[in-house]
Amino acid sequence: MDDCLFCRIVRGELPSKKAYEDEDVLVFHDIHPIAPVHLLLIPKAHVDSLADCDTQHQAILGKLMLLAPKLALEHGLTEGFRTMINTGRGGGQEVFHLHLHVFGGGERIPKI
Ligand code: 5GP
Ligand code: ZN
Repeated sequence: MDDCLFCRIVRGELPSKKAYEDEDVLVFHDIHPIAPVHLLLIPKAHVDSLADCDTQHQAILGKLMLLAPKLALEHGLTEGFRTMINTGRGGGQEVFHLHLHVFGGGERIPKI
């Protein structure tokens, strides 16, 4: 995916403030944080959205989910955090490379 924003970040063509990296996951700070801590957890391999995942993505989805509480704690979110995956235009997705938002801290996040 040559022109995908997050693929370009994975390839190091665009800068990001990295929080974690391994062979199949990259985590970086959201450029427009909606909370004091706001991380984006992405698979390095491009997939457009959660709606485009199938059984071959089961392992990476599980890996992202299990990383969320670990990284939240590492970033001081001892009281808890919120996870969010926006899917498709109707779900508010703007960047079409699957990502898991993990955010929290500061004021209590409003209940939805
Ligand atoms: P979505 O609305 O697709 O779920 O979320 C996309 C997120 O990516 C937004 O929260 C937005 O602030 C963030 N974002 C967009 N462009 C960049 C960028 O170039 N760098 C970083 N770090 N975050 C970005
Ligand atoms: Zn991509």
